Amino acid sequence: MKRIKITKTTESRLSEIDFDNIPFGRTFSDHMFMADYINGEWTNLEIKPFGYFTQHPANLALHYGQSIFEGMKASKDINGQPLLLRPEMHARRMNASAERMCMPTFDEEIFLDAIHKLVELDAGWIPPKAGSALYIRPFMFAADEFIGVRPGDVYKYIIFTGPVGNYYSTPVKLWAEEKYVRAAVGGVGEAKTAGNYAASLLPAKLAKEKGYDQIMWLDSKEFKYIQEVGTMNLFFVIDGVVITPETDGAILKGITRDGFITILKDKGIKVEERKISIDEVVEAYKAGKLTEAFGSGTAAVVAKIADITYRDLLMDLSNSENKIGTLLKSEIDGLRAGTIKDTRGWIVPVKQSVEAEG
Ligand SMILES: *Cc1c(COP(=O)(O)O)cnc(C)c1O
Repeated sequence: MKRIKITKTTESRLSEIDFDNIPFGRTFSDHMFMADYINGEWTNLEIKPFGYFTQHPANLALHYGQSIFEGMKASKDINGQPLLLRPEMHARRMNASAERMCMPTFDEEIFLDAIHKLVELDAGWIPPKAGSALYIRPFMFAADEFIGVRPGDVYKYIIFTGPVGNYYSTPVKLWAEEKYVRAAVGGVGEAKTAGNYAASLLPAKLAKEKGYDQIMWLDSKEFKYIQEVGTMNLFFVIDGVVITPETDGAILKGITRDGFITILKDKGIKVEERKISIDEVVEAYKAGKLTEAFGSGTAAVVAKIADITYRDLLMDLSNSENKIGTLLKSEIDGLRAGTIKDTRGWIVPVKQSVEAEG
């Protein structure tokens, strides 16, 4: 395996951080990983002090969008041991995104090695409070100095981290969108690629102006089948059965979603991955059978859905006890804390290696 060159910072900013007041998405830890793809191979693998880097004005990714990312979290268990949850799934999905966007893949073992070393070096940046974490953001983009629509020959791979507080999500008000679409089957909805999020900004802004927090996306052909929400997959509980839209190429394959399906099956709770139409949800709501709805994602783990508006019908779920969502959140929190035994091999303790390597 390729060796990562490590240069430690001589000016840690850790002492400036107030862990009780972490501005979301604006605080970055001391080190970052960088690598370059040149002449058909990844090279210049290094961990160095976090900071700026320069790019050419003709940077290919800025003009034509070859850019992908991942999002994962490192946290500490009750004994203070830093750990990761299913990191190999993120390595694999990053490469799946790369393949769809015609970008080079990256050795999954080196990806994991880089993450272990980064988290080990910046373990002091993992906030101590339960529910908080060190957010890890791997991303890759074309770095050619060239204007023209073609796949890049040169890429940059970067991983940085930053502390996040207990992401308490207030119940979310959803708007079922019938004008704009997030993704179509055959498109890039399954890739964590920058343009998907840019495309969602205008419809999300319009929904906010109408008083909703987020858009519930419907399929691009009929505006009938439910897809997902922002950066979360969706679950509905109807008549005691948990239903989540099947991944059809237009829906992001959430790792939290995958984990939830496994946990529900293990607990003997009926769970279905299938097409679910907005009409089915409306009917269930009217019959009093829709008992809860929640979103799943790495950031909040579970976000309760307060209500869903479809045309002029407001489906109010604010009084829902959100039993299944709460159960799933406490299962993930317990696995991370070490208070629930990990029988599935999902929890990966962060290796101690940097000092030993010198
Ligand atoms: C990242 C993301 C999710 C959630 O995926 P997790 O792996 O559970 O964090 C869901 N939908 C979209 C569009 C996303 O970008």
